[in-house]
Amino acid sequence: MLAAVLKAPHCLEIEDRDEPEDIPAGFVRVAMKSVGICGSDVHYYQEGRIADFVVRQPMVLGHESAGIINGVGPDVSLKVGQVVALEPGIPCGHCQYCRTGVYNLCPYVRFFATPPVDGALQQFLLHPAAFAFPADDLSPDEACLAEPLSVGVYAVRQAAIGLGHEVLVIGAGPVGLATAFAAESQGALVGLIDINPERLRVAHQAGFEAAFSSHEAKQFDVVFECTGTQAGIRGAQSRVRTGGTIALIGMGQSATMPLDSLDIIVRGIRVVGVFRYANTYPSALALIRRYHERLKIFQANRISLGELPHFLATEQYGHHIKTIVSLN
Ligand SMILES: [Zn+2]
Ligand SMILES: [Zn+2]
Repeated sequence: MLAAVLKAPHCLEIEDRDEPEDIPAGFVRVAMKSVGICGSDVHYYQEGRIADFVVRQPMVLGHESAGIINGVGPDVSLKVGQVVALEPGIPCGHCQYCRTGVYNLCPYVRFFATPPVDGALQQFLLHPAAFAFPADDLSPDEACLAEPLSVGVYAVRQAAIGLGHEVLVIGAGPVGLATAFAAESQGALVGLIDINPERLRVAHQAGFEAAFSSHEAKQFDVVFECTGTQAGIRGAQSRVRTGGTIALIGMGQSATMPLDSLDIIVRGIRVVGVFRYANTYPSALALIRRYHERLKIFQANRISLGELPHFLATEQYGHHIKTIVSLN
């Protein structure tokens, strides 16, 4: 079987590997069909690292994935032939975070395409059935969107979005759009801002109000910061209403955040950090069903596994809101 293996920065090879044969109890074998390319894959490709996560040995990329079950181990109720979306992070199940339901914070999590764990850009893989979510009514291209949408679902939960809340999303990339869909599904009134006209165009195409970043005075109940930039974080604080919530999602050059702590105190602002997600896949799949048409913006660019090295080498990533690699 073929796999997209990152050997070193700027060196991605399509490699022939052995297919997994023995399926352990509780596992399924999945013929992978669709894997979305994420900013983190591109980052590992270009830099060989993200913060303290360093690629030290060859690693398969990809974590936004869906496929079709083609084998099941003992004690599995899923069936051969089912479309499944794969949740990419397998937590330990025993630590205090796992036991209290915030398994996204598990220090022992094994997450696709986070060194040294191989990712989903391979034609077959074994996965715990408990982290494979059936989506028989969706195509694999749709089902793989459950990963980026999960980030939005979790962010909206952490920010306690409700009916009629006025929400601003800073940054109209894939994470910002996922957050906008999730917030709208909860009854919020959502607007996005960005400085990239192409992203604004796509946000409009997806049916959202989107505008060029500005120093407008309007304030919002909740502001989602999806850029990770200093300007974005400062903007989040100036655009949040007194008593409102800032949710920080975008991971940029962090270290010192330009938040004004006195302003946070006297205006009673709640600041929440959102890292990955937990228990979101059923909700993310429901979002895909609900916003079926509008989510087509994420499926406009498809490439084959063989085209991936050229795609990354020529930096075509930035030209599309999302690119989906077809396997098998
Ligand atoms: Zn991703
Ligand atoms: Zn754990």
